[in-house]
Amino acid sequence: MIDSYGRTITYLRLSVTELCNLRCRYCMPEDGICKKSHEQMLTEEEMICAVRAAAGLGIRKLRITGGEPLVKKNILSLCRKAVQVPGITEVCLTTNATLLPELAAPLKEAGVKRINISLDTLNEEKYRYITRRGDLSQALSGIEAAVSAGFDKIKINAVLIGGFNEEEIPALAELTRKYSADVRFIELMPMYDGGEFGPDAYIPCERVKEVLPDLQELDPDGGVAKLYTLPGAMGNIGLISPLSRHFCGSCNRIRITADGRIKPCLHREAEYSIKGLKEEQMAEQIRLAIERKPQWHGELSAKQRSCAGRTMNQIGG
Ligand code: SAM
Ligand code: SF4
Repeated sequence: MIDSYGRTITYLRLSVTELCNLRCRYCMPEDGICKKSHEQMLTEEEMICAVRAAAGLGIRKLRITGGEPLVKKNILSLCRKAVQVPGITEVCLTTNATLLPELAAPLKEAGVKRINISLDTLNEEKYRYITRRGDLSQALSGIEAAVSAGFDKIKINAVLIGGFNEEEIPALAELTRKYSADVRFIELMPMYDGGEFGPDAYIPCERVKEVLPDLQELDPDGGVAKLYTLPGAMGNIGLISPLSRHFCGSCNRIRITADGRIKPCLHREAEYSIKGLKEEQMAEQIRLAIERKPQWHGELSAKQRSCAGRTMNQIGG
């Protein structure tokens, strides 16, 4: 479907849970979130129904996200069913990788094509600090498991945080020489009011180019990242700059939250409910959300916080 600004919407990000086994400081409060009742959340059937409705309107790529999608008990069944929805050509998943050692191979078997992995540091103590509880060795084993499972594509995403991982840019970029995986640096988005990082923590992606003078620019692939490569690397380096170079003009996505709200724009409050609806009614709501998708996300800067009205674990990134 084409929205009011001429953008063809082909990509759905479906958050399957708000829950997570980590508590990244820029994403989620330390005490977790107020757990919603089972009845408030989309059931597995409703999620698949929503994917069918979206596919009927031209959605082709589905990304399963969260919270942490791999803490969801029925994640494999959900992926298997999503892969079979007519019109969906690619099912991908975003994860913190800590549960991939057990789940990478079953996810590949279920038909998941691509995996995005979040990893902000290669230092054990810093990993525990930023995630408030995580074990770096589990995440690294998860990356190894994903590589062994043979996904079509693996992308490792690092959020740039001043005073935290700036000096690790070269080490994180080196992962493109170690693995056949892309590494993407993402600007910190000012999402969450109680978040611990103020304006000083914001580093524009241009900083990566200053730190890595060997980067060679590649042709754009139509995605949100500007692409580069390091000499001799197997994977690319991507720079994703929602603040310094927003990509709203080519945005092709909508989001559905685990409690059944369509979000046409990540940084806007507008939401359209699909909880409890039948497929045709869901399709109507998706059509409305796409028709009303705003032209851009509005002012967003290190000082001007997002108007999303939710924490990132409740949206899915
Ligand atoms: N738990 C999974 C994970 O961490 O990959 C999936 C959900 S997580 C919300 C999706 C992505 O959003 C992660 O790559 C995370 O780093 C990113 N993210 C969360 N809060 C962010 C923020 N304030 N700014 C930039 N990226 C953020
Ligand atoms: Fe959990 Fe992902 Fe948010 Fe970290 S970024 S708290 S892993 S949902």
